[in-house]
Amino acid sequence: MKPTGPIPPWFTAEEGMLLIAGCGAAALVDEAGDTPLFAYDMGIVEAQVRRFREAMTDGLHLHYAIKANPFAPLLARMAGQVDGFDIASGGELDMALSAGMAPDRISFAGPGKRDDELEAAIFAGVTINLESEGEGRRALAAADRLGKTPRLAVRVNPDFDLKGSGMRMGGGAKPFGVDADRAAALARAMIDAGADWRGWHIFAGSQNLDPLAIIETQSATIALAARLSDQVGAAPPLVNLGGGFGLAYFPGDTALDIRPIGVALDSEMDSLPDILRDSRMALELGRWLVGEAGVYLTRVLDVKVSQGETFVVVDGGLHHQLAASGNFGTVVRRNYPIAVANRFGAPPAADPVTVVGCLCTPLDRLGDKVALPTVREGDFIAIFLAGAYGASASPAAFLGHPSPRELLLG
Ligand SMILES: *Cc1c(COP(=O)(O)O)cnc(C)c1O
Repeated sequence: MKPTGPIPPWFTAEEGMLLIAGCGAAALVDEAGDTPLFAYDMGIVEAQVRRFREAMTDGLHLHYAIKANPFAPLLARMAGQVDGFDIASGGELDMALSAGMAPDRISFAGPGKRDDELEAAIFAGVTINLESEGEGRRALAAADRLGKTPRLAVRVNPDFDLKGSGMRMGGGAKPFGVDADRAAALARAMIDAGADWRGWHIFAGSQNLDPLAIIETQSATIALAARLSDQVGAAPPLVNLGGGFGLAYFPGDTALDIRPIGVALDSEMDSLPDILRDSRMALELGRWLVGEAGVYLTRVLDVKVSQGETFVVVDGGLHHQLAASGNFGTVVRRNYPIAVANRFGAPPAADPVTVVGCLCTPLDRLGDKVALPTVREGDFIAIFLAGAYGASASPAAFLGHPSPRELLLG
């Protein structure tokens, strides 16, 4: 048997049926029409936003990195919950605007923005986080063509990284942002060219569960933003300090305690370097806000034995929930929290089972030698922590199965 990650403690059952936002899993499948299904509980997202506001210093802005979950009904609700959206493509620009987020609260990062995306962003009045000097030149040219003043910030590749992150996005040679030692020159050139200067975007890592590492990185980020601003000789209206708040997906993970981060940021903000005194500070979070709110529900199609091992075959797989198969940003495959939704809380059977998806590839493994109650055809298998990087971050076209259904609840 191999261990699984912790099921978030608020999930309960009624007569053995897993409840999501107070509704039984089987009833949700009926409501959606079929499995596979992603069900998102907006109440859990809102509770997470409240936890952030309570722990963090007043005035700190919360941005949502919409790539974590851009499901339109969820995005529309998020627009009323957070202070800004961070987007990474022209497609996400359309989604953010359709969700009702004000353009001046949207910022657009991402290496490799096409000219038509730059034009659409400048036309809409969103901030572009420049990833290179070349992109700066193309943004100015696009603004000229439109006869508009572009809102520009510079994304900095910091000279440090967030220690212990699942995905490293800063420090060393990176395709993201401009190296710290060239960032001030780029900012100065944009200001001299007449751009509306918006400030800095400094993102050092993702999926981190160590408050001390996050605190250390935030402190270094503020110091870097101050040093760069001094070099430019202009105060940044916004400093986006990045994010990195992680979730406890795997066995042995402990949930991130954000309260010490709030306390440390509070004291940082009380003693900001002069040039940042009037700057707004923001954190941009994706998975931490929405990940725990989602459950991926699949139906068992087959239970079969091979050389003494039992395989449970479900109608979903890595084409919907790549992350749970271990093929999205993890080096070693580990088990996400998993349960039989219609026998939730029942004691496990004597022998472990391996839960696989319906794709013809050995990569399609959703639970490896996991302890579950006896599984039968027609049962529902629930995979938790499915609210982020699920439906939109998986290769849905691979092998031609239907797209998953999605439901927003609460
Ligand atoms: C992906 C991304 C995020 C969100 O990361 P999470 O791990 O989901 O919080 C934030 N900022 C940038 C620049 C990103 O690329």
